[in-house]
Amino acid sequence: MMSAKIVENAPGRFYVNTRCIGCTICPEIAPANFASNLEEGYEYVCKQPADRDEESLCREAMAICPVDAIRDNGLKSEIRNVLKADAANPKKQNAGCSK
Ligand code: SF4
Repeated sequence: MMSAKIVENAPGRFYVNTRCIGCTICPEIAPANFASNLEEGYEYVCKQPADRDEESLCREAMAICPVDAIRDNGLKSEIRNVLKADAANPKKQNAGCSK
């Protein structure tokens, strides 16, 4: 079952979902992008990464999160776009297997 996004997440590709256990690792790794809701005991994306360094730290937090609560929606969108492009162009889709 998919976990819901935490409502405070800043709009954009990275987000934290309700699996978060509030371990506070992500704001330690990427303080510009993650913030804590101390009352409720979870973290959320307070700002989407503005450059490659911030994006890299968000990815690091994503990799380290013990419950896999940090997600990158953009990655899924990119894959979806590639699949759509392939579906619209079947010749291209089979280009690697034509022998
Ligand atoms: S690392 Fe994961 S579990 Fe820990 S606070 Fe961040 S989102 Fe929540």
